[in-house]
Amino acid sequence: MSGTKLYEGKAKILFTTDDPNILLSRYKDDATAFNALKKGTIANKGEMNCAIASHIFQYLEKQGLATHFIQQVSPNEMQVSAVQILPIEVVVRNIAAGSICKRLGLPQGQELKQPLVEFFYKNDDLGDPLITDAHVAMLELATPEQVVQLKKLALDINHHLQAFFDRCSLILVDFKVEIGTDASGRLLLADEISPDTCRLWDKAIADPSDRIMDKDRFRQDLGNIAEAYQEVMKRVLAV
Ligand code: UDP
Repeated sequence: MSGTKLYEGKAKILFTTDDPNILLSRYKDDATAFNALKKGTIANKGEMNCAIASHIFQYLEKQGLATHFIQQVSPNEMQVSAVQILPIEVVVRNIAAGSICKRLGLPQGQELKQPLVEFFYKNDDLGDPLITDAHVAMLELATPEQVVQLKKLALDINHHLQAFFDRCSLILVDFKVEIGTDASGRLLLADEISPDTCRLWDKAIADPSDRIMDKDRFRQDLGNIAEAYQEVMKRVLAV
């Protein structure tokens, strides 16, 4: 049974439970893009993303990475450890797409020589601006030690996710993670990993629109959005 609503985000609602160290995360069908300027729903997204994220969190735990995942308790709900989320969105890119193309003039689809880690300030009023380590220090968003740990963790997650999605015949273009600290100060991968937060391209399809298997189908009105999520779920759960 869920307790009181602690926080409602764009894609999930967090509830308290009887245990102060455990929260319930309920995944919603709501979809937003462009800092919530575009809104809609994707049929069954809550259940699909909850299943995908649960599976991936367990996979990453098996690889030795600490996550907030405890257990899935219903089709669209999971228990997670209560963490303090750092106000930093950590993005890892393997291939240029989305905002980096606009910002730096890179062609969509250009492979990066090595994975790139970027920090964005998690602040909707400011539109989540790109920030440097110096801004993180100035705004005291994380300690210098945490910044080093965050970058290493982000690259480790990328390494394991790339291998995982490769087995799903999907290319991991880029993704965003949120990291939290538990009561003892340990960094835990939190939030979610799903087609809402990752760019995934079908390895077997060359057409730049047809190969998109993630929220870009919603952002760009490409159609077959729920079908793409469904296909990602099918492949993820089979690995
Ligand atoms: N992303 C996300 N939430 C955000 C912003 C980005 O999950 O608020 C993910 C996005 O799905 C993509 C990666 O982070 O996989 C990089 O996004 P980008 O900076 O290119 O921004 P976008 O093009 O989505 O505006």
